[in-house]
Amino acid sequence: MEIWLEKKDCTGCGACKNVCPKGAIEMVQGDDGFKYPSINQNKCINCGLCKKTCPILGKAILDRLDTPLAFAGWSKDENTRFTSTSGGIFTELTKPIINKNGYVVGASYNEENLVEHKIANNFLELDNLKQSKYLQSDTKNIYQDTKKLLDNDKTVAFCGSPCQIAALYKFLKKDYPNLLTIEFICRGMNSPKAFKAWMSEIENRKRKKIKKVWFKYKENGWKTSPKRTRVDFSDGTYQIYDDYKNTYMVGYLESNLYTRKCCSSCKFNTMPREADITLADFWGITKTLDDDKGTSLILVNSNKGLDYFEDIKENIFWQKRDINEIYKGNSCFTTPVKTNENSDKFLRELNDKNFSYLVKKYSKKTFFQRQKDKIKYYLKNVVKRN
Ligand SMILES: Cc1cc2nc3c(=O)[nH]c(=O)nc-3n(C[C@H](O)[C@H](O)[C@H](O)COP(=O)(O)OP(=O)(O)OC[C@H]3O[C@@H](n4cnc5c(N)ncnc54)[C@H](O)[C@@H]3O)c2cc1C
Repeated sequence: MEIWLEKKDCTGCGACKNVCPKGAIEMVQGDDGFKYPSINQNKCINCGLCKKTCPILGKAILDRLDTPLAFAGWSKDENTRFTSTSGGIFTELTKPIINKNGYVVGASYNEENLVEHKIANNFLELDNLKQSKYLQSDTKNIYQDTKKLLDNDKTVAFCGSPCQIAALYKFLKKDYPNLLTIEFICRGMNSPKAFKAWMSEIENRKRKKIKKVWFKYKENGWKTSPKRTRVDFSDGTYQIYDDYKNTYMVGYLESNLYTRKCCSSCKFNTMPREADITLADFWGITKTLDDDKGTSLILVNSNKGLDYFEDIKENIFWQKRDINEIYKGNSCFTTPVKTNENSDKFLRELNDKNFSYLVKKYSKKTFFQRQKDKIKYYLKNVVKRN
């Protein structure tokens, strides 16, 4: 077998690696820091399963509601809500599964502070899956491991990006009654190479090791949280990187400098959605449902998703909303982001140049716009304080 996709179209979901009966496919890191499949021709028996399983070449057929049901909501548990990215609905949906000795699959930091998919079977492990990590997660053998649990009649909730959910269904070849899938509206996956370079810059400047990165730190509110990241260090201290000083989120949200190429032509941000439930920030929600602590958008796409949602209703605040409200606040629901045309250069130059310098160099904002951001930041944070 030869690889059937151009690199720019591959999502790196890893379904092909998982399905190969001979272990002939490895996901290998490219110069851009993303992983791509590589076939060992000595092991390959040309069965074609890899190509057949690729979600880019066709999605699984799933039983989905004609019109998904939209809700706004948040966890009634203040701590869950504060420590989650939006309204904490992921944790509320999966807590009952852990309580009944089921399993939850999601993205967790590993020992290098990069992200990979892991399986949680207790609350401590579930806590590690919580929160958005804005870089691509390594799926390793997660579809195989999930299938083993499902075939053993375990209840599993699998959470991932829309392309990872599509990959799971293609790998499984069917839906399982004991499987709940949860996806999020996805703005695009960032290169682990960029994330690593940003972390190294901080570690070198601070002369201490990073223990954890907490994106969208909601200390000063949810609406301004996208550019507020809390970095915890191994000596017990932490630093908040905010606004224009948060160069990692600036490079992502303002310039799409290190989003994977395939995200520009995402095939999975369409209706009907693949997952049973889609979660997101309910940007643009009416003021009466926005106390700036985080409001989730909950989109129920299947009857199974509805059953799970009904079960958690007493633990959350919720309100039914018109599905059309989603479109105005969350363009990534249907429209892919456009990866920056200088992305390759940026990621190549990272080999010997400073991360924040390169973000400035390739920023879509002009020098004057950046100066304006600095003045605004100063007025907000320094003048207000005095
Ligand atoms: C890369 C990325 C882009 C996003 N883009 C948008 C957007 O444009 N608009 C929007 O409204 N919402 C977006 N979200 C979703 C949003 O940030 C919240 O994750 C979502 O609203 C659920 O929030 P929560 O409070 O219920 O749960 P949280 O506790 O925040 O749950 C997050 C869940 O996502 C999983 N997850 C986290 N990081 C990754 C990752 N890198 N890869 C795969 N799975 C992961 C976790 O395992 C967990 O299950 C994005 C999330 C990510 C990870």
